[in-house]
Amino acid sequence: MHLSSRKVSVNIGRAIKEYEVIEEPYAHILVETNKELHGWLSKHRECTSERLLLNPYHGCSVGCFFCYTKGYDFGYFKLCQEEKVVTVFKDFDRRVASQLDEIKIASCGYLSPVSELFSELNNKYQITERIIKEFIKRNIPIEFITKEVISKEVLELLKQQRHSFGQVSILTLKEGLRKRLMKKGATTEQLLGNIRSLAKSGIYAVCRIDPILPFLNDQKEELRDLIKRVRDEGASHIIASCLDISKIMYQETLNYIKNFGISIFYEYKKLYQESIKNCLHADINYRKRIFSFLRETCDKNNISFALCMEFEMVKDKIRGLNQEFMSSENCEGINIPIYIKRGKYFEPIADCLGNCLNCQEAKCGLRELSQGNEDGEKCWKLSDYKRWSKSINENYRLF
Ligand code: SF4
Ligand code: SF4
Repeated sequence: MHLSSRKVSVNIGRAIKEYEVIEEPYAHILVETNKELHGWLSKHRECTSERLLLNPYHGCSVGCFFCYTKGYDFGYFKLCQEEKVVTVFKDFDRRVASQLDEIKIASCGYLSPVSELFSELNNKYQITERIIKEFIKRNIPIEFITKEVISKEVLELLKQQRHSFGQVSILTLKEGLRKRLMKKGATTEQLLGNIRSLAKSGIYAVCRIDPILPFLNDQKEELRDLIKRVRDEGASHIIASCLDISKIMYQETLNYIKNFGISIFYEYKKLYQESIKNCLHADINYRKRIFSFLRETCDKNNISFALCMEFEMVKDKIRGLNQEFMSSENCEGINIPIYIKRGKYFEPIADCLGNCLNCQEAKCGLRELSQGNEDGEKCWKLSDYKRWSKSINENYRLF
């Protein structure tokens, strides 16, 4: 990969593609895409509901020092790591629209696992809004996670779809600390305003304290204040995790931690010894203490709680910690049934909590989807949704 004046080249599979860099509002390239909608990619996950994952951008302007995508050293992610050039999949909304028209069964859309979706670049291209419109006009639910300000247009769109919702990442109430954890992003007051706007619009609001960074934002008093504050602003659910460090990012992450003091650097060296797959995790006793405290605080404040991707090793097997700490049926708090197409629009089916990972009965009729009896989670592709669409019974009892 090299940058010569205004051109970059990217390795995609065996092909090398060259693109012109557009510098405003910050460096990016425009790419035509054939990307397909797909479900979760990881077999080890605790995400209870199926989702259709949507990534209109690769690379992110928020610049969290702990961002897990920094460990992705391939394709357009590599371009972002090495050249600081973000990729915009300029026609992705059209791809999404035609793929949604090929299926008759749909789970909630999820914007966006690998980048911020309300960035300055999105202000220019509006792909987020265009994708949300494609979901809403078919009456398929959609959700997002953000560290930026949610636009009025998006709030208006989400209001029209009963199961669509928003998640806002707020790691701390201390604005000074937030700025040291990430280069950009909305201010703490704006993030709290997001929760308030979602709630006022009647849209389910989730606050993500994700991740908790040991010795930085893990003080109990501060976590208690944060939970109370977001509950008062209208959040219905809290999701938390504790920082895990991908092994290839270990040195870079610990070097950044030195900015917070050399003693914290040595604490991290001691704490991060547990290896699960390609990541190092904080000591399990530390994590369980924090998660117990969070669960207890959420219970006291009448707000539901779940963890995101937290595991422990038990006799050489990976065990999810939500079995112990989650108080909701689904990790994202809200129960969203699977939707099927009836006529022009999709509708939610009855008797479905949308918790496929723990579901044993498969009242939707798709036994493959219910993984409550299976040993190991499954990952679905667009082709699976198309296959199920052929056998879908349009006479399901609706919600
Ligand atoms: S907002 Fe998310 S994707 Fe963007 S840098 Fe932060 S962690 Fe990474
Ligand atoms: S009935 Fe069970 S398996 Fe079917 S969509 Fe709902 S939660 Fe998933």
